[in-house]
Amino acid sequence: MVPRFDVTSGGRRGNLQAGKIRGMTPAEDGNLAEDGILQPGAVALVTGASAGIGAATARALAARGVRVICASRNKARLDDLVTELGAGAQAIELDVADPASVESLIERLPEDLRALDILVANAGHDLGGRRPFDEGAVADWVTIIETNVIGMIRTCHAVVPGMVARGRGHVVTLGSIAGLGTYKGGTIYNASKYAVHGFTEALRKDYGASDLRVTEILPGLTRTEFAAARHRGDSTKGTAFYDSFAEVLDPADIARAIVYALEQPARVTVAQMVVVPSHEN
Ligand code: NAP
Repeated sequence: MVPRFDVTSGGRRGNLQAGKIRGMTPAEDGNLAEDGILQPGAVALVTGASAGIGAATARALAARGVRVICASRNKARLDDLVTELGAGAQAIELDVADPASVESLIERLPEDLRALDILVANAGHDLGGRRPFDEGAVADWVTIIETNVIGMIRTCHAVVPGMVARGRGHVVTLGSIAGLGTYKGGTIYNASKYAVHGFTEALRKDYGASDLRVTEILPGLTRTEFAAARHRGDSTKGTAFYDSFAEVLDPADIARAIVYALEQPARVTVAQMVVVPSHEN
């Protein structure tokens, strides 16, 4: 039997290569269990799927036969992604900072995609650059909190009741190492990710006695459009920011962590996963 470890999605230089695990089948290693939520045909909603970690996650899930609903504000980019992913994928316009957009989300989905198995609440951003608190703009802070905190909570509130009613589901939130420790110039973004951390921990406790799983993924520096968005779309500044570090992660590295959490047997909850660049610790 062929081992189901995926070394094609970014781990080519990693220590665990197919040759080293020869003969280990999914049943033997207890992974990819038949009672796990990540099965072909499962339905997943990924917010912030038009770029970065969300797009990589949509690709990773679609590659496993999951029907992925790709959501964000930029419908044209989502349409391109869905074309790439092929049958089963669906694009939907969603602004997590707009209550009406989130409240109508489930009813705007095709009927056969409304029973969500998986939510990856990934949409998020920083705005205005890293700067001392007194130099920041209130309007920027409002959109950070509206998106990263209230938008994420709103999205969960639109999806979780259905999961509770069906007795099954898996919510993955995107925290950050910025939610475990602070840095200069990060007051509001740090606050937003500390909020994601607290919310996710408490959410897991609310459903600990049920088959609703809750996972927080906490990435370190990952090369996406995030740094450019922080500078209002200035990709030169975004690239220069990532280039100033010895090593940054690839969005596929985080997608792999998300898939790992989702593919566990029903008895296993990956509560948190901190994923950082090897040479930037
Ligand atoms: P990215 O490449 O800039 O992607 C952000 C995504 O969020 C885009 O698809 C964007 O799509 C979407 N988005 C932003 N505001 C939205 C809104 N109001 N409604 C719906 N979608 C919205 O950034 P990324 O690095 O992949 O970030 C994804 C998540 O990872 C964020 O929560 C971020 O905080 C977290 N994270 C990133 C890093 C990192 O180093 N990159 C590290 C730790 C955590 P539209 O513009 O089309 O709406």
